[in-house]
Amino acid sequence: MNNLVKINSERCKSCGLCIHVCPKDVLTIGEIANSKGYYTVEMKDQTMCIACAFCALICPDLALEVYREEKGK
Ligand code: SF4
Ligand code: SF4
Repeated sequence: MNNLVKINSERCKSCGLCIHVCPKDVLTIGEIANSKGYYTVEMKDQTMCIACAFCALICPDLALEVYREEKGK
C-alpha cells in the first residue's frame, strides 16, 4: 500500500491552504464541484506523497486524512 490522502470533498471550501503547504506539490483544485459549489482538492500524483500530513494539519475544515505506508510488512 502507498501513502494515502483521503479527501472529504464535501468539507472542502477550496481555500487552497493545503496546496500551498504541500512540499511535494501533489495537490490541486479539481474540476468537480461539491454540493456547495466549491471546486474541491484532488491529488495530482499520489505516488509523490510523503505522508508528512502538513495538508491535513493546516486544513481548517478537517477535509483531509493522511495514512502512511507501513514499511517492512
Ligand atoms: S501528506 Fe504531505 S506530501 Fe502528502 S499531500 Fe499532504 S502535504 Fe503533500
Ligand atoms: S485546506 Fe482544506 S478546505 Fe482548504 S482547499 Fe485544502 S482540503 Fe479544501
